[in-house]
Amino acid sequence: MVLPTVFPEARERAEGLARRTSMGVGGAPEFLFEPASEAEAARLLALCHVAGVPVRFLGGGTNVIVGDGGVEGAVLVTRRLRGVRVLDDRVDVAAGQSYGALVRHAARWSIPVLSGCPGIPGTVGGAVVMNAGGHHGTTGEALLEVRGIDETGRVVRREVEDGDVGYRWSDFGELLVTGATFRRDRSADRAAAESLYRRALAAKRSTQPLGERSAGCTFRNPGGGEPAGRLIESAGLKGRRVGGAVVSTRHANFILNDRDATAADVEALIGVVRREVRAVHGVRLELEPAFWA
Ligand SMILES: Cc1cc2nc3c(=O)[nH]c(=O)nc-3n(C[C@H](O)[C@H](O)[C@H](O)COP(=O)(O)OP(=O)(O)OC[C@H]3O[C@@H](n4cnc5c(N)ncnc54)[C@H](O)[C@@H]3O)c2cc1C
Repeated sequence: MVLPTVFPEARERAEGLARRTSMGVGGAPEFLFEPASEAEAARLLALCHVAGVPVRFLGGGTNVIVGDGGVEGAVLVTRRLRGVRVLDDRVDVAAGQSYGALVRHAARWSIPVLSGCPGIPGTVGGAVVMNAGGHHGTTGEALLEVRGIDETGRVVRREVEDGDVGYRWSDFGELLVTGATFRRDRSADRAAAESLYRRALAAKRSTQPLGERSAGCTFRNPGGGEPAGRLIESAGLKGRRVGGAVVSTRHANFILNDRDATAADVEALIGVVRREVRAVHGVRLELEPAFWA
């Protein structure tokens, strides 16, 4: 494999991913890249492609749980891909920018739907790929175009079309998303957007354990019936613990790392919740965050 000689620093920097994820668990990848530009990212992807090294992408790490044994291949961190351009009819944002900061500016920049998405940590790239959002809207609703790099290192642009985004899903996951363009609606009511931001943030703060270590909602809401949190709560699982991981007593769909959990603790608790919800409600819960093992 050519990578260790071409990029020795990528191996040296490959410390455990616990401190790069909000759940705070997990081992190291074989290689860790943190490119500072799209061109550097493209070169790295092309090299990994030729060397047959699998690559995963990490933004803010707020929707990823990393296994204790670490990750085979390379992890490419997008945090250093920075830049924002506010134009008349659109806003271009690089993937590594903070999503929370974009949402805070959304009313001023006339992207009203994003004002309904406060309190979501992580990067713009992660929010685009996961179509992050909530009751008041989703990232994909304001998205015009996505810029990215394919696995061979080729830079591509994708206009966003119907069917490209869905519930906590997008069709861009195969690309390294390097930037996103959001539509400005200059006729939007700025005061209404600011008010929506404040209300949505207050509601989120009062119901979710935002300041604690977690990967956000653990399970996707099953279609049709009760949301996952209600199913878990009514199965009596609030406060259930395995080692350092516990089901939040505030919002049952959050698993917290409150006592130096290992990924094995988190995984075991996920298994307990799944089994008990299946037994009580007959519903099979699906994990929302990616689990890298
Ligand atoms: C306290 C808390 C509250 C949350 N609340 C919400 C909420 O209300 N609504 C919601 O939707 N989510 C919520 N989340 C989940 C999470 O914050 C979002 O999914 C967020 O958009 C993930 O962004 P990230 O940069 O952290 O992505 P990461 O966690 O780094 O990655 C998530 C996935 O996207 C991929 N990815 C990341 N960046 C890129 C890129 N540039 N190109 C290609 N693939 C990429 C990763 O490989 C991974 O599969 C919450 C999480 C926490 C911890």
